[in-house]
Order: sequence, then C-alpha cells, then structure tokens
Amino acid sequence: MKKVLIANRGEIALRIQRACHELGIKTVAIYSTADRELMHVQLADEAVCIGPPSPAESYLNIPAVISAAEITGADAIHPGYGFLAENANFVEQVEKSGFTFIGPDHETIRTMGDKISAIKTMKKAGIPCIPGSDGPLGKNDHENVLLAKKIGFPIIIKAAAGGGGRGMRVVHEESELLIAISTTMAEASSSFGDPTIYMEKFLQNPRHIEIQILGDGKGHAIYLGERDCSLQRRHQKILEEAPAPGITSKQRKTIGEQCAAACQKLKYRGAGTFEFLYENGEFYFIEMNTRIQVEHPITEAITGIDIAKWQLLIASGEKLSLKSKEIEIKGHAIECRINAEDPDNFLPSPGKISVFHAPGGPGIRVDSHIYQSYVVPPFYDSLIGKIISYGETREIAIAKMRNALREIVIEGIKTNVPLHQRILEDKKFLKGGVNIHHLENFCKNKARAG
Ligand code: ADP
Repeated sequence: MKKVLIANRGEIALRIQRACHELGIKTVAIYSTADRELMHVQLADEAVCIGPPSPAESYLNIPAVISAAEITGADAIHPGYGFLAENANFVEQVEKSGFTFIGPDHETIRTMGDKISAIKTMKKAGIPCIPGSDGPLGKNDHENVLLAKKIGFPIIIKAAAGGGGRGMRVVHEESELLIAISTTMAEASSSFGDPTIYMEKFLQNPRHIEIQILGDGKGHAIYLGERDCSLQRRHQKILEEAPAPGITSKQRKTIGEQCAAACQKLKYRGAGTFEFLYENGEFYFIEMNTRIQVEHPITEAITGIDIAKWQLLIASGEKLSLKSKEIEIKGHAIECRINAEDPDNFLPSPGKISVFHAPGGPGIRVDSHIYQSYVVPPFYDSLIGKIISYGETREIAIAKMRNALREIVIEGIKTNVPLHQRILEDKKFLKGGVNIHHLENFCKNKARAG
C-alpha cells in the first residue's frame, strides 16, 4: 500500500494522515470548498476538492470520492468515522473499483448495520444480548402484547436500520404499546426507508461500556480492553475513560475473550468496537461499530497499541502479530471531546479562532486540526479536537486533565471546555461508574442552580 485516500475531514483525517506518514504511505486528502484550510489538506501529499460544503455533495458523494481515488492513483481508502465509514454500498463500490477499503468487507458492514441481523449474528457467536423479540415484530397485535409481557415492561421499540440515537421509543406499560409500535414503524419508514422494528427489554440505569477489537480478516482477532463512555448527552459521548471504573480484570477477560472469539469466527478484518450496556454486573450487546472510533486514543494510551497504524497494516495484508494475552492494560486514560458549542445551551458556535494555545506536559495528547486563525465551518460536526490525559492511576489522569483544561486557550468561538471543567469536579464522576443518564441530570441541575 503506497497511497491512501482519506475520505474524511477534521481531527480524524489528520490522525489517519499521521499514521500513514509514519509508515511511509503517501496521502490524498479530499475536501469540500469549505475545508480548503484544513490542516491535513495543507499537509497531504495530494489534495482534491470534491464538491461544495454540503456533506451530501462532498463527503457523502460516492462517485466524487471514488473518482478522486482514481485520478490520484490511490491504492486504498480510509473512511475514518461518520460519513461513509459504515455505508455498505460505498464499501461495495470501493471494492468493485479495485481499491482496498480500510475496514471490513461490505457484507460484514451490511450485517452489522442492520441491528436485528447484528444481534442475531452476535447471539449465535456467544455474545450476551438484551432479552428481546429476536427478530422483527410482526403485525399481530395480540402476539406483540404477549411478547412485551413476556420480556417485561419497560421495553424499548427500535428501528432495525436506526442510528445516531434515533428511531427508538421506550414503552412503560401495556396501554402505550400498540401506538408506540405503529409510530416507531412509521418513523423508521420515513427516516431510514425501512419500517422493520424490533423489541427489547429497556435497561433503566445502565452504563455504556465498549470493547475494542482488532481482527486480521483471516481468523485471528484480539481485544484491547474496554472503555467507559457513559457520559453522554442526547446519546452523544462527551468524556470517555479507560479502563472502566470497577470492572475487574476477570470481567474484562471474560467479555473481551467473547468478543475476540466472535471476531475470529466471523473472520473480522480491521478495527471494531462492541458496544454494551452494563447493568448489575452483566454486559448486554447493543451494536457493533465496524470502524475506528473517536475515543480510540484512550485505548492506545493504556495498551501502547497504535490502532490507526494497525488498521493500515492489516489492510495492507500484514500479519496481526499481537495476541490478546500479551496486551497489558496499564494506567488510566481520559478523553475530553472539545466541541465548538455553547457550554450552557449546547448551540453550535462556528467561526474564527482568534487565539489558540494547546495544553501540554507529560501524559497529555491533543488530537486536533485547529490552529490560530482557523475558521470552524458551520456545516459539520462540532468536534474540534480531543484532549487525552494518561497517568498511572485514575486520580493522576484526572489531575492532568484538569491542568490541560486550565492551560488550553481557544478564543473567538465558544467551546465546551467549561463543561468538562465542571464534570471533573463532580463528586459522582470522581467516585466513578456513573450511568448513561448522569450527564443529562448533571446539566439540568446546573441549569437550575445557575
Ligand atoms: P444508535 O445506533 O442509534 O446509537 P443504539 O442501539 O446504540 O442506537 O442505542 C443508543 C442508545 O440508546 C444507547 O447508548 C442507550 O443509551 C439507549 N438504549 C438503546 N437500547 C437500550 C435498551 N435496551 N435499554 C436502555 N437503553 C437503551
């Protein structure tokens, strides 16, 4: 593999480019007309403008992305996360056009993209799943009521093709069930073009814990420990940490080995994440992400494994020489996602960064594409960077992150740095192990107090 086209923007495009250049691989950046000034575009070996700002006409425009790979003679395409990363049709076209897709094959992506088939596959592979309908809901009202009663209220109705936290409805009692089924089905049909829905038990106070894996596509796969991503707002992760507080090495080994075994069985290729809800000591699979995740650096910090580099090595046919039992989890890492948004009302805050100063010191990593005088465009995700702190213990990682948040200067736009500073003083967070509702409640209480 000599030349990789990076089909993404922002911090992850820069992260991928750094990994490519470290391995002596040339890069092609693609960009919209709003993104000419992106750092990785300036530093790429070649850069191709693929369309206007709107994602549909640029980063999601499959023919434009593939043409850019053709005219530059790239060997492979790295999708990053978001945009086309989990679009099976795109991956199929990449494969058909003769390029290497840096990730699993299109069939795996298609299976994991449909929640019902993903759950079925994982259940068969021995992964613990949430009790539920084990398939699409039929039209028989009576049967659906019996099924819900058997699972036990509260239950959640979910669209098989859903994503981004949309296409879900919680049902607390029988009287609400049938109307919830018909509205979720109508919504699924209009939002995702697929009315298929299913039912599962609604866990009331779970944590979000996920397992990172790497597979070589030939039957060898390893796990790289877990991440706790319970601090979310509207299903968007804000702060992540690894390892997850309170998870024992025995629990890690059990669930990790199950995930690795499933990937070996599937001959999974590339990096992937098993997302679980965790409640009362049990893991329940919710979905698998077939790509690199925003929060991958905290796993890199505690394992010393460069996940982005391994994605490239695996795609180029290199043997995955690592073994799960050789992976040593050491220390503690925290990631704060820095968003260009108002920390109080969460409204996006695009615009020109008039002053920027990055934090530093031992154990601080900054993955960001921003620089002084860079203009954050209003068309994309508000993530402008990530600060990752690493220390021997959780307390040290927290102390380092507090320093970093005090040092960072971003002027000209609003950011959520003050929110992170508040979280890092929150007694419940400091204790560790909060559930997925904690951050929403924390923000509400702050609004009331303020
Ligand atoms: P998406 O693909 O849209 O992100 P997920 O299936 O990953 O959908 O679910 C998103 C979030 O919805 C989860 O992180 C969790 O907060 C909540 N959720 C989903 N299923 C359940 C469930 N069975 N019980 C409780 N919460 C759930």
